[in-house]
Amino acid sequence: MNYTFVTLFSNLIEGYFKDSILKRAIEKGLLDINYLNPRDYSTNKHFKVDDTAVGGGAGMVMNPQPLFAALDDLKSKDENVHVVFLTPVAKPFVQNDAKRLAKKSHIAFVSGRYEGIDERVIEKYADEVFSIGDYILTGGELASLVLCDAISRNIEGVLGNAESLEIESFETPLLEAPSFSKPKIYDTLSVPSEYLKGNHSKIRSLKLALSECKTKFFRPKELKKHKAEQRLS
Ligand code: SAM
Repeated sequence: MNYTFVTLFSNLIEGYFKDSILKRAIEKGLLDINYLNPRDYSTNKHFKVDDTAVGGGAGMVMNPQPLFAALDDLKSKDENVHVVFLTPVAKPFVQNDAKRLAKKSHIAFVSGRYEGIDERVIEKYADEVFSIGDYILTGGELASLVLCDAISRNIEGVLGNAESLEIESFETPLLEAPSFSKPKIYDTLSVPSEYLKGNHSKIRSLKLALSECKTKFFRPKELKKHKAEQRLS
């Protein structure tokens, strides 16, 4: 997978790939990371990339010219690039999007700054638009990293143990059961005793019951929907 981060601030992103799973994925040749700075495409003599909003309003908006030029350049080099804009007003990014996008060959994440990006850029170039939640960040860099990380885990070979993908929350209607590590008793707190007895079918049913409890607590609507679907089938 080839990722291109279209950003004024690539420094904010680069560090994330310098350690752990995504670093190893780059070393294995599974991911290739590139950056495109709209400022390098600005025809303004001071390389300006933003201006006040037409029609009034507080703050600066990213101009169309540098972004049109940067994205035209990107598309001229790879017509298959899938262009994703990050914006707080779009539909929220979910696990199914991560799995679907993991099948692409090249994704470009376009990060806004200031009051955002001139809407004409989004209309012309966006293949998809995502939010990472109902709150406002100072820029799209963190949001694009969130998408990149979630997508990359679904690319074959990125995770050491592919099985961990299958049992994770959001793969089934129920959230993943609580996990415990060693020691079995820590600070007087024990892991569930059934986990210690080695009866795998009992452990499986306990995990299912705990998954239901967790889903009831954190996502009661999803559990209700799941139960209704079970009754229908
Ligand atoms: N004025 C915009 C509004 O009210 O919708 C917010 C602009 S925000 C300060 C600047 C940039 O941060 C956006 O263009 C977008 O790229 C990014 N951003 C902020 N919050 C985000 C979120 N929740 N999800 C995705 N991107 C976000």
